[in-house]
Amino acid sequence: MSEPETSVMTPAEQATEARFVSVALDLPLDRLYTYAVPPAMSGQIAPGMRVEVPFGRGNKPMVGYVAEVLDRCELPEVKELRGPVDDGPLIGPDLMALARWMAHYYVTPLGQVLTAILPAAVKKQAGFKTVRLVVRGERTEADMDRVLSKQQRVLDRLDALDNPVTPRELARMAGCTTAVIKALEQKGLVRIVTKQTEEFARDLYVPVESETPPELNNEQRLALQRIKALIAKGEFGCVVVNGVTGSGKTEIYLRAIEQVVAAGGQAIVLVPEIALTPQTIRRFRQRFTEVAVLHSHLTDVERHREWRDIRDGRAQVIVGARSAVFAPAGNLRLIVIDEEHETSFKQETAPRYHARDVALVRAHLLGVPVILGSATPSLESKHNCTTHDHYAETRLTARVQGRPMPPVEIVDLRLTSRERKGYHALSMALEKAIAETLDRQEQVILFLNRRGFSTYVFCPSCGYTLRCTDCDVSMTFHREANECRCHYCDRAVAPPEKCPACGSPSMNFFGLGTERLEEEVKRKFELARIARMDSDTMRSRGAHNQVLTAVRDRQVDVLIGTQMIAKGLDFPNVTLVGVINADVSMNLPDFRASERTFQLISQVAGRAGRGPKGGRILVQTFNPDHEAVRLAAAHDYEGFAAMELEHRRTFGYPPFTRLARIIVRGGNEDQVLAHCRDVTQCLRDVAAAVPSGPIQVLGPAPCPITRINRQFRYQVLVKAPKARGIMDLFDRVRDSLTPGNDDLAIAVDIDPTSTL
Ligand code: ADP
Ligand code: ZN
Ligand code: ZN
Repeated sequence: MSEPETSVMTPAEQATEARFVSVALDLPLDRLYTYAVPPAMSGQIAPGMRVEVPFGRGNKPMVGYVAEVLDRCELPEVKELRGPVDDGPLIGPDLMALARWMAHYYVTPLGQVLTAILPAAVKKQAGFKTVRLVVRGERTEADMDRVLSKQQRVLDRLDALDNPVTPRELARMAGCTTAVIKALEQKGLVRIVTKQTEEFARDLYVPVESETPPELNNEQRLALQRIKALIAKGEFGCVVVNGVTGSGKTEIYLRAIEQVVAAGGQAIVLVPEIALTPQTIRRFRQRFTEVAVLHSHLTDVERHREWRDIRDGRAQVIVGARSAVFAPAGNLRLIVIDEEHETSFKQETAPRYHARDVALVRAHLLGVPVILGSATPSLESKHNCTTHDHYAETRLTARVQGRPMPPVEIVDLRLTSRERKGYHALSMALEKAIAETLDRQEQVILFLNRRGFSTYVFCPSCGYTLRCTDCDVSMTFHREANECRCHYCDRAVAPPEKCPACGSPSMNFFGLGTERLEEEVKRKFELARIARMDSDTMRSRGAHNQVLTAVRDRQVDVLIGTQMIAKGLDFPNVTLVGVINADVSMNLPDFRASERTFQLISQVAGRAGRGPKGGRILVQTFNPDHEAVRLAAAHDYEGFAAMELEHRRTFGYPPFTRLARIIVRGGNEDQVLAHCRDVTQCLRDVAAAVPSGPIQVLGPAPCPITRINRQFRYQVLVKAPKARGIMDLFDRVRDSLTPGNDDLAIAVDIDPTSTL
């Protein structure tokens, strides 16, 4: 992240008479368009407002955002805008400044950024409808004399009403047709007004019993002091709360927010979408009465209502996933990012922003503090604590109430294949541990980050592997659905009965997914009640909730799942966690593979022994000597961070350098490669002239997954010592990055979290 350059305008500065405006349109073209403001509207137009404008040769009506109000315009000819779309700006000045920073930093047209910032539900004004209502006109005694009796009945009804009704309703009440009302309107005895009414369902603020907050321990108190000092000063600053799982980080957030809310401020709390469980939300509702929640399962009406509650200052706390960083809180005094290391904070479509970095910029613009919490802080944040004045690290080294960290045992999968015949996902050691746990009436979580039944469909006679025809990946067999599915484009085909290549009738199904694991557990523990949580079983709304409630009520003995169960779950009766295969993330061709493996084992391990009964963790792996596995098992984050940072420094990877990646996509491989070569050349030429270098341009090379959805993918990587270098480079090339060809697409990914 680099320092933001835009500043926030005060409302007084914006209220100047608008003669011209620059408008951002939601187009892939990276420019603003100037329009003249009709004199009659000049007082109503302000930045952040949506306006309708005529666009292009045919003057097609389009909706855009006013980026700037100008009192001059050098262009010889400008079109007039047609008018405002809403009553006022939907994007306030601070979000507008943030959007400008994003457009610049993430090399994305401002119109696309603004479109991402404003929820579709708000743009649609979901939950509002325009109704026509009958009200009294200004009638005189003289007028009344000429009223027919039918008309008099209508007027009497109208007088007796508490709330205005529509013409149709009034006619029904008075037993006449709407023509009678129309006649009254013509005489000026009634008027028909249009009004917007909201039809928001008011059922989101669930009353929850409040709880007595626990007494803080010393480490918590120290962390809280630091944060409170920043809040009191009203200054930007970032406190990294580096605390092991169960060390009471959330309790610190709650206390810090209390201070903010007591002073009339608002706070945003970002958590990974999968950690946005009812359990998490309840913890905030127990302490605060007005909690707005933004998650992906909201209906449009619900989302719009939450947005309004936030904008109008009714919501004290906003809890949400990635995009909640754009919550229109006008009185924002604190941003908390829990599990700040999570990759789901990075958006993988344009604008490819990282919510943590955007949060830091937003806080910087406003002069408010940020809390970054994690048991495994990203190496970027860890590094910032030693190099950045605004960063401070505070550690929580122990779980609350002296609860021990659960012991982690490593099971060497290279040895277990000799234990017994046949294929077993569960080693003898893990099987025995499950049996013992179930005997004690305690619960088990089994973690496997691969869904489906088997991950390869393979012919032993000729070596053929079933691959997606549209993507460069192998297909996964799903037994319940009885199909082979591509996890990138969701294409499904019937499982082949014989080899499509050589005709051999015996296809093998290899590799282990959650479906197959579930089958094995069912077979080995017939009496156990088993639930599986992955994106196949969690398709319906509420399914997630149902399973978690069942686990909480101890109606599930063994919970099997993908990364969905790695975060935020806190069940005191879960005393055993098994990691079925720790190697899945280790073998990815990405420089963060070790970090991901370490984080995953630590997070999953954090699900065990959260109650007084304690717990244990078994990690199965083919690489028991891998540093990430060894150090995660020893709960040694500091050791891992020191080692991995040294490695990154040696090889020139982030956080010691900054990366950007440009991906060229298209249906024709030759064309894609040719264009990627041109882009590479252009970047090289410009990079040589950037003063904030030295900048390395690496490529072109095929992406590790070369084809997705019939699109070939090639990439160029750019490496610079500082963010400034990357920004200087893209400032110079951003105008030449359009492909100039409809069959090609270019994506710029600044600070990529994955290079697949
Ligand atoms: P983390 O966010 O680090 O995983 P939590 O804040 O969720 O940890 O704390 C874990 C549990 O311990 C919660 O049930 C919380 O209410 C409780 N807790 C937090 N701080 C204390 C404390 N100082 N004393 C006792 N219990 C605490
Ligand atoms: Zn074959
Ligand atoms: Zn596919």
